[in-house]
Amino acid sequence: MQQIVIHDKKFIPYLSEKEIQGRIVELAAAINQDYSGKNPLFIAILNGSFMFAADLFKAITIEAEICFIKLASYKGTSSSGQVITAIGLDADLINRDVIIIEDIVDTGKTLNEFLPKLQHQQPASLKIVALLHKPEAAKFPIRIDYTGFTIPNRFVVGYGLDYDGLGRNLKEIYQLG
Ligand code: 5GP
Repeated sequence: MQQIVIHDKKFIPYLSEKEIQGRIVELAAAINQDYSGKNPLFIAILNGSFMFAADLFKAITIEAEICFIKLASYKGTSSSGQVITAIGLDADLINRDVIIIEDIVDTGKTLNEFLPKLQHQQPASLKIVALLHKPEAAKFPIRIDYTGFTIPNRFVVGYGLDYDGLGRNLKEIYQLG
């Protein structure tokens, strides 16, 4: 792995394909054990999590379902301003064991706004698996149940994550050089 350039910026290698895949096997093993016999419903948040979701789900060996959603924010009429809605969430969550798949938790804003909407649908349980977590960037309290890698507060690309549209197809994760 060597330094790459995307648009105007240089990125240096951070997590290799081997490290990522090895960690995913460990995350899946923990989930397989914790959710045995429960038929959990994974909800992958697009776009960034598509690659992680695919590899994680391939390593899930228990009975399980998956759906993919996109979050859209628009200016609401309430004082809080932005309102987040889920596009494509047609599954019935009532009494389901739900596991959210996120690429990265940064400030925590996205999940902080979205989780209460899911809780409203009365799932039996609601947990989060995130490939990357930047605790130094946290502005909202999010409890991540399964964390791939805890990383410093630097911008990363690759393995589904983009920099202005590019870099999602990289098998490795790079950080801003
Ligand atoms: P949060 O709401 O936690 O601040 O941000 C979550 C979203 O911001 C992620 O799902 C991701 O799309 C984007 N994001 C946060 N940090 C990074 C980063 O370092 N690189 C990229 N490519 N996206 C990021």
